[in-house]
Amino acid sequence: MKSIATQLLILTSQRRTQRNLKVLGWFMLILFALMSIHFVLFHVIMEYEGQEHSLMTGLYWVIMTMSTTGFGEIRFSSDLGRIFTIFVIISGTIFLLALLPFMFIQFFYAPWMEAQTAARTPRSLPEDTTDHIVLTRLDPVTEALIAKLKQVGQSYVMIVPDVEQARKLHDMDVRVMVGELDDPATFEAARVRKSAMVVTTRSDAQDTTVAFTVRAVCERVPVVATADLGASVPILELAGATSVVRLDQVMGQALARCIAGGDALTHVVARFDNLLIAEASAARTPLIGKSLRENQLRELGVSVVGLWDRGAFRPARPDTVVDERSVMLLAGSASQLERYDEHFAIYNVSGEPVIVIGNGRIGQATAKALQLRGIDFRIIEKSERRVTMPEKTIVGDAAEPRILEEAGLSKAPTVVITTNADDTNLYLTLLCRKLRPDIEVIARCTLDKHVPALHRAGADFVQSFATIGASSIYNLLQHGRLVTVAQGLEVFDTKVPSSLAGKRIIDSGLREATGCTIVGYRDQGGLTANPPATTVLEPGHELVLIGDLEAREAFLAKYAEQA
Ligand code: AMP
Repeated sequence: MKSIATQLLILTSQRRTQRNLKVLGWFMLILFALMSIHFVLFHVIMEYEGQEHSLMTGLYWVIMTMSTTGFGEIRFSSDLGRIFTIFVIISGTIFLLALLPFMFIQFFYAPWMEAQTAARTPRSLPEDTTDHIVLTRLDPVTEALIAKLKQVGQSYVMIVPDVEQARKLHDMDVRVMVGELDDPATFEAARVRKSAMVVTTRSDAQDTTVAFTVRAVCERVPVVATADLGASVPILELAGATSVVRLDQVMGQALARCIAGGDALTHVVARFDNLLIAEASAARTPLIGKSLRENQLRELGVSVVGLWDRGAFRPARPDTVVDERSVMLLAGSASQLERYDEHFAIYNVSGEPVIVIGNGRIGQATAKALQLRGIDFRIIEKSERRVTMPEKTIVGDAAEPRILEEAGLSKAPTVVITTNADDTNLYLTLLCRKLRPDIEVIARCTLDKHVPALHRAGADFVQSFATIGASSIYNLLQHGRLVTVAQGLEVFDTKVPSSLAGKRIIDSGLREATGCTIVGYRDQGGLTANPPATTVLEPGHELVLIGDLEAREAFLAKYAEQA
């Protein structure tokens, strides 16, 4: 209904349409006058012939004869009547059969269709549009970003140069605007001056053009650009980008962060000021077979937020039992995690290299992050051209068990699968899991929808390019921070919702109502990791929460307005 109203508004507001409707009106008037003359003459000539007919019969005859239907039951008997009939048929053929459809299509139907297209693919946004995000391409990252923006009620618009593509996106329920990305007028029409941010995720060259063009219109608005190559970063900054995100690096770091195998130490996966979220493998430690209550890790200062078990995250409860395959998600300050490490450093020491499959941009970034963490690794790369560290690389197809063996699969604590094809990653996950049931498997995935399949195939951790990329861009919006730990588990901060003010954490019912766990509490004195359950929540103070996408959505639905 709304779209028909918009189309009508567009249709009637155009000057050309008003002219069209006038022409159509004149035509209908002439047609009506012609039919009226025929109607009068019909009755006059019939009377001349001595026939009498009702007014309705006259109208019936005129329409039937003009439309050339001609049943023939009402006929003239004089030559004058027949000549008149011929004239009515000819005028009907011209006016009703030829001109009427033409006029209708030319002056009503075609403009209506045009208006319909214009409503689906506008070339400008309403003048009062503010605080929106301007996007330049729909890809897995921006799709995930749009989902996050919708969660917090932030508006956006996607500018695309091609009308056909815009129409398709509109039908996919994406808010689009048509315009050339190298034309300042496009960004004027997108109300970029009043927008919250421009996010451009096209090729490096196209992103440079976008940044440059936006700057021609507005100096102030933040422009976030993604860069494929390191060399593009200074160029993009020079063109006017305020932040340049290297998604391959972000992704490589995210994959490397997940590695818990090889030791029992904590590995930091997310950081909020002095609050650290870390993972630690329970394999071959005395924690196995006991519940969290029995393990008493709180005495070391750390708190167990939850347990990963082959990709499934379970929030921690006192009676949760730790098993050989559990990877614990811990929260604590740096010194608390250090105490944990001192205690558990002697367990599960592997020293064997981690295997990285694929040496593309993300594989290289993973290897670089491993180097920084001081973890030894071997790379398997199919294409000789792609080898960058020959001393660490086995050239061959990782789908061959012989190559995996050569890379040390039988002893490696972890394999990180980083190829760009989700189906290859699925195949390799199944293969590695089959050859080494106890190895830690970390897989890259491009589309969020493939995450469950990779888990089912046996991956312990899956990092989705779409989610990781979207979170790193979203964080730049400063809506409060958001860090993706893995597989959609997010750490975020928020003001204490007004309905919880004055309540103790233990009485807040937050976890029961939303599934989020409080891992930090910020007051005037700074951030306290793992605040005691008796902490009273004060208005104006901040909470750091952890939860999966559903839990975060539930939190925003219940408390966003109060936070
Ligand atoms: P990218 O396209 O930058 O994500 O890189 C993916 C890398 O993985 C490329 O260098 C591919 O040659 C490599 N790759 C893809 N499939 C395999 C495989 N089965 N074994 C080893 N390397 C692979």
